[in-house]
Amino acid sequence: MVKRKNVGHSPSIAADRVYLGVQNNPAVSAEVERLLSRRTRDIRLGGEINRLFRERTWPQTAKIIRSWMIWVAILGVLSLIFNMLMLPPSVSILTLPPSAMLPPIAIAVALVWRRPRAPWLQGSLLIAGVFAILLSIALVGASAGGEFHERYLNIMLFVAITAIIIFGIPLAWTVTISAMALGLYLVFQLTNPSLGLGSALASTLFFAAGIFATVAARRTMTILAQKTFLFELRDRRRVSELAEVNDQLQSLARTDPLTGVANRRRMEETLHRLWDNRGRCPDRVAMLMCDIDEFKKLNDHLGHAEGDRCLIQVAHIIQTHIRRSRDHLARYGGEEFLVILPGMAENEALFVAERIREGVEAAALPNPTSVVSRYVTLSIGVAVQGPADDRVSSEHLQRSADAALYQAKQSGRNRVVIHRPEPSGMRGRQDGIAGQAAIS
Ligand code: GH3
Ligand code: MG
Ligand code: MG
Repeated sequence: MVKRKNVGHSPSIAADRVYLGVQNNPAVSAEVERLLSRRTRDIRLGGEINRLFRERTWPQTAKIIRSWMIWVAILGVLSLIFNMLMLPPSVSILTLPPSAMLPPIAIAVALVWRRPRAPWLQGSLLIAGVFAILLSIALVGASAGGEFHERYLNIMLFVAITAIIIFGIPLAWTVTISAMALGLYLVFQLTNPSLGLGSALASTLFFAAGIFATVAARRTMTILAQKTFLFELRDRRRVSELAEVNDQLQSLARTDPLTGVANRRRMEETLHRLWDNRGRCPDRVAMLMCDIDEFKKLNDHLGHAEGDRCLIQVAHIIQTHIRRSRDHLARYGGEEFLVILPGMAENEALFVAERIREGVEAAALPNPTSVVSRYVTLSIGVAVQGPADDRVSSEHLQRSADAALYQAKQSGRNRVVIHRPEPSGMRGRQDGIAGQAAIS
């Protein structure tokens, strides 16, 4: 048999939907703060918050109402059987019609409350259902007569009180159910042949006090539930704000504040992502270690602030020559930038490196005392890992790029040098450069 899906919202889904709706709504957040600043007893939910509260509590309220209806239906059937067995047939036959109407009404209301409907419809059906149930109980007593008359009226009030206490419904609905119960009680007491007017009024007054206290207790419970809901809304908002700030902090902690590109920490994370846990990178990858030439002299002659501007511009130039979606650039040290070019073969990597070097040269950023040129220049060490070299670790590739950069510096700066790995038979004996191809 195919199990029917529960069409109502599960509490957690309903809660998540509610909180999501609130998180991006500053008006609701302001209202939450305003309500929480009040005394508890003065809390009144209105408008959007009230709607959200109902949406949030609906699954639980509906479940309680359904359970109560089923409980009442079972008791109704049991009392019907009991009456049939215990009362004289002439009396029990009279109690049969009102007894028989209770279980189907209770089950019908339970079915209506299986899924959310318009509040007015749900409220009217609930109130009508409870009224019919209370009326049927009172009618059973009146039909049985004698001592049963009063006894069933008391049972009717007991049933009403359980509903008032446990139904987390709007106060107006609760008051309506209470008024109906007391009204029925009064009418049936007045028609009780064994009671005088005074006794009928006195007992109604007595039970009215009890019902009033029950309604007050229900109201307090509702206000406390509403306050808890407001606290939940506030907590959720604060947690989401905290998460947002945390994200910003995380991003700041991974960004170089001067140039705005990734910092070394973010680059380390990127390398970890590209190389697996066993230190292998399944794809081709190229690494460019870029270092500004004679940068100390630029700082010394033009000042640190000019040096900073130069760093920003060089970072920008590098960025314009790499693929935004795939490549990674980080300021790796003072005037050193590391570029990762995933999936790039040697020729392409050399081409990109050369374009970057040319770009920096063409920008004509002044470096008057540099031994290389009057303008800022860049040396780049390139190391490439081919698809067959998946055992080369990122550290090894960095060392290779560093070694190539060293060669670029040694051989006059303002150039691109590629590290050429040794033939496979020699690999592992040493880390240094086996050969290099300098460009420019
Ligand atoms: P080479 O051509 O061999 O690379 O020489 P260089 O002068 O570029 O290298 P060196 O390592 O001697 O000097 C790097 C300088 O970078 C020294 C340091 O003051 C400067 N530096 C590091 N970080 C910053 C920064 O954030 N701003 C500025 N303006 N300068 C920085
Ligand atoms: Mg350096
Ligand atoms: Mg330098």
